[in-house]
Amino acid sequence: MTGSAVAKFPLNLTSVNISQENIFPGVLKGGFYHPPTCRNRFRVGIIVPYRNREQNLGIFLNNIHPFLMRQKLEYQIFVIEQNGNGPFNKGRLFNAGYKEMIKFNKFFCVIFHDLDLLPLDENIMYNCPTLPRHMCAHVNDTDIRRKFNITYSYKSLFGGVVSMTMEQFERANGFSNLYFGWGAEDNDMFWRLHAAGYPVVRYQKTVGVYLVLPHKREPANPYR
Ligand code: UDP
Ligand code: MN
Repeated sequence: MTGSAVAKFPLNLTSVNISQENIFPGVLKGGFYHPPTCRNRFRVGIIVPYRNREQNLGIFLNNIHPFLMRQKLEYQIFVIEQNGNGPFNKGRLFNAGYKEMIKFNKFFCVIFHDLDLLPLDENIMYNCPTLPRHMCAHVNDTDIRRKFNITYSYKSLFGGVVSMTMEQFERANGFSNLYFGWGAEDNDMFWRLHAAGYPVVRYQKTVGVYLVLPHKREPANPYR
């Protein structure tokens, strides 16, 4: 493990009961927060794709709210759940989440966030980026099935945790709706942004460090 493998602030790996209300003082109905002592120029929307991972969702929320509050951000978290047992389609969930999100409020940028990734460095800014930003450059995997900790650079060009402005998302025409099962909608987004004229920026490996929560792997889409 590298020195950056351990968070420099307390992580809480217990899972909150997601049906309970008022767990985090200051978070308003709908997962909306704004700092009491300042006004933000930008409001950040955070979209989390979800199905059947209640334990991880509770751990995610238990850590991401305090993390975002410490950055004094104005944000709202949207957990977008896929119904039924069909193949998971993250791109569709992201697009649907985006369409719902803009009905709630005016946002300046959006972060698409896997719920099994916890930021480990407070220098990972969840504010609005100038260019599309790949945030999880490096992950610490605690996968218990493999019985040891490994760290590696994130496998995808533009997956896991990414942020972009509303304008960038719309000019890229959102995610593809066509990737069912595990994989590739994130790389597709990289090329959509590229085609729209936007390069992607990425945190340095020593900064964009995330912890992966253990979970079972979805069957990979053979056509990805
Ligand atoms: N996800 C989920 N339930 C599933 C599959 C995926 O909630 O059955 C969501 C969850 O937010 C997860 C993300 O989709 O973090 C990415 O899926 P997964 O972690 O399986 O893919 P990986 O990035 O690990 O290959
Ligand atoms: Mn994962």
